[in-house]
Amino acid sequence: MIYNYCPVCGEKLLGKLAGDDGPTPFCPQCDKFWFPTFSDCVIVLVTNELNEIALVKMPYLSQKYESLISGYMKPGETAEVAANREVQEELGISLTSLRYSGTYWFAKNEALMHGFIGTTVKQDFKISDELASAKWVLAKDAPQYMFPDSPGNAALAVYRNFIREIY
Ligand SMILES: [Zn+2]
Repeated sequence: MIYNYCPVCGEKLLGKLAGDDGPTPFCPQCDKFWFPTFSDCVIVLVTNELNEIALVKMPYLSQKYESLISGYMKPGETAEVAANREVQEELGISLTSLRYSGTYWFAKNEALMHGFIGTTVKQDFKISDELASAKWVLAKDAPQYMFPDSPGNAALAVYRNFIREIY
């Protein structure tokens, strides 16, 4: 989001030079720059010892396609903490390891997606109320259930990273 008015006092912002960033929205009342902001999200490919991955159906996103675990980070969290938390909240399981798998810009939501690959041992899920379903599928079969490729489809990008690692 690019600010035109100060989110604190409502004053119209001025373009003030901020070093290499050039003219930047500035509130003269609060003496504060308001740099553009965006959301940070985590997206986690959860896999097990059988090279299966967890796919979830989120009714508010699609009745048809399935997704990886994802969610918005909270202020004060690291991406790693958020990734573990989202997996726990959505699937009711703990990860045994977690590794970073790149960042992806999702323009539609003005969000930076932090990709992760998380491992666990195969077990049943205790899914969140916000999910319609969750299931384990063989990694090689996953794309047929997932959202089609499009700019900003971080799920498929993380999936491709994972496939490169195991094959
Ligand atoms: Zn202000």
